[in-house]
Amino acid sequence: MISRHRTVQVRIGKVAVGGGAPVVVQSMTNTDTADVEATVAQVRALARAGSELVRLTVNTAEAAEAVPRIRDALDAAGVEVPLIGDFHFNGHRLLAEHPACAEALAKYRINPGNVGSGEKKDAQFASMIETAIRYDRAVRIGVNWGSLDKALVARMMDENAQRAEPLDADAVMREIMVASALESAHKAEALGLSRDHIVLSCKMSGVQDLIAVYRLLAERTDHALHLGLTEAGMGSKGIVASTAALAVLLQEGIGDTIRISLTPEPGGDRAEEVRVAQEILQSMGLRAFMPAVIACPGCGRTTSTYFQQLAQDIQSYLREQMPVWRERYPGVETMDVAVMGCVVNGPGESKHANIGISLPGTGERPAAPVYIDGEKAVTLKGEGIAEAFQAIVEDYVRSHYGGER
Ligand code: SF4
Repeated sequence: MISRHRTVQVRIGKVAVGGGAPVVVQSMTNTDTADVEATVAQVRALARAGSELVRLTVNTAEAAEAVPRIRDALDAAGVEVPLIGDFHFNGHRLLAEHPACAEALAKYRINPGNVGSGEKKDAQFASMIETAIRYDRAVRIGVNWGSLDKALVARMMDENAQRAEPLDADAVMREIMVASALESAHKAEALGLSRDHIVLSCKMSGVQDLIAVYRLLAERTDHALHLGLTEAGMGSKGIVASTAALAVLLQEGIGDTIRISLTPEPGGDRAEEVRVAQEILQSMGLRAFMPAVIACPGCGRTTSTYFQQLAQDIQSYLREQMPVWRERYPGVETMDVAVMGCVVNGPGESKHANIGISLPGTGERPAAPVYIDGEKAVTLKGEGIAEAFQAIVEDYVRSHYGGER
């Protein structure tokens, strides 16, 4: 078991982040927050997919006014997921002028590079922290390398130039990111916000940079850490880059909550980022969210796509059932289902799963042996193998995971 870095636990609504709590999955909406109906629908979809925290941008007075209405609509629908407000530039004003928004949010994300400049900066930062103290809310001090505090960059670049052995540009950048997060956290604490109300992040878009910067952070602080590769990109590139970075850090016990910043395909499903986050955690054995489908890749021994279709159908079926099963059948998320293309590895893999099926390969007898808990239970034949197998899975879930409550 991976031992987790000891961080201070932060409560965001009912959700615990850090301090040994399971790594929390979060996501962010991309609707116009002022559009209450669209935002409520998307938050519901993200929560249904398993997002445990949902962040939304609060960038205008209209968005700030919409936030309490969004919260009310979610409460009325029985969706308890805590909401996080993402503030930049005018966050101090929006929070001060819209107390109902400040109250409806469970956490405020503050970007120290975007809270203002010059003399106003400290006052505007302090105003947001004071609001968090007043409403007993958590904050995330979220540094992003695309919007670093310019004054801090200039100061640290100068200091580096004065050193006998200056650091290279990448190393200075990482030091600036970490300093921005830690200095802001110390300012917030000096203003009276307790350490157990502060989460830190230092997001970068390069995998090696992200790993290096979070290792530094974990060495230097026990604040809870929000982990994510910023601007990860689209499709497989975004998924692979995020996984490569997060897996290394999570394996070292670094990271208390994660978000996968995928650029959705046009018209794509926003909940994809939730599924990817869950799959990273589940494949690393850190958490279990839904039954795993173990499927072989197929090869020349099976020319039929039938088993691919069955694996996909079973995967979709399990995913669709999970919002209900999660409540009704605790433990079902640890179930393994094997769908194999032929008898070479099929029976062996099936025996290791809770339920497994080996479909006939090319030239094999048209029969599909099904194994349950390591024992051959039945051989399915002819039409309707998919339906019969799904019924076996359903029956197994009902009889093994607690029954109807
Ligand atoms: S189980 Fe059979 S079909 Fe699947 S990859 Fe192995 S040999 Fe090929």
